[in-house]
Amino acid sequence: MNLLLFSAADRLDEQRICVADYRHKHLLEVLQAQVGQQLRVGELDGQTGYGQVLEISQQQVILAVTLDEAPPAKLPLRLVLALPRPKMLRRIVRSVAELGIAELHLIHSLRVEKSYWQTPALQAPTLREYLVQGLEQSRDTVLPTVSCHRRFKPFVEDVLPDLTKDRLALLAHPGNYPPAPYELRREALLVIGPEGGFIPYEVDKLETAGCQTVSLGPRILRVENAITSLIGRLF
Ligand code: SAH
Repeated sequence: MNLLLFSAADRLDEQRICVADYRHKHLLEVLQAQVGQQLRVGELDGQTGYGQVLEISQQQVILAVTLDEAPPAKLPLRLVLALPRPKMLRRIVRSVAELGIAELHLIHSLRVEKSYWQTPALQAPTLREYLVQGLEQSRDTVLPTVSCHRRFKPFVEDVLPDLTKDRLALLAHPGNYPPAPYELRREALLVIGPEGGFIPYEVDKLETAGCQTVSLGPRILRVENAITSLIGRLF
């Protein structure tokens, strides 16, 4: 945790906040916080700054906060991702927030098992928990938006054209395609497939919707590594 993230619910008044959950435990056990110590804090969807520890007890920590800095800018990127299996989803959702992706669109595809849509990890409070962990890691305060699209064809035909408007749309797909570009310096949308890859029909539909298919070379990367590797190249 590189930032103690708090929300309006943690405020005692204009200046002071009180934390009593996993953050209290982290402050005591990992950071071994002392009264008077200054820590980095941030308000959810707001600014970042410093918090000075005023009081520590077995139940809670009270800090006086000064917020005067904007959080780091988000990447100009929309990520469209075939819904990964639950265990990977948790890690990927954390990484999405950590990397500064502003918008995540989870989509269905033939090689996404229908049961994946039932995972508790997709329920709003759980999803938010993973996103918050990513924000705490990268000292960001702004939650990415997450949208679920459970049908591939309606998504590609009716939703995707609006999402790609005025931005470069790239589909990462292993094969003999042009290499993914470097340093885009413009807004982009990136489509990443499921572990089993997109089927040819899906690739056709995504291309028809305006996506340019690009490759990362002959190595097949795990979804999470493909995301990080592409972001490193594009931005
Ligand atoms: N089993 C599939 C690969 C899926 S990898 C196959 O053999 O084709 C999961 C996703 O990561 C892919 O759909 C793609 O979006 C991305 N990816 C992984 N490696 C890639 C590469 N070398 N080039 C482009 N995209 C890649």
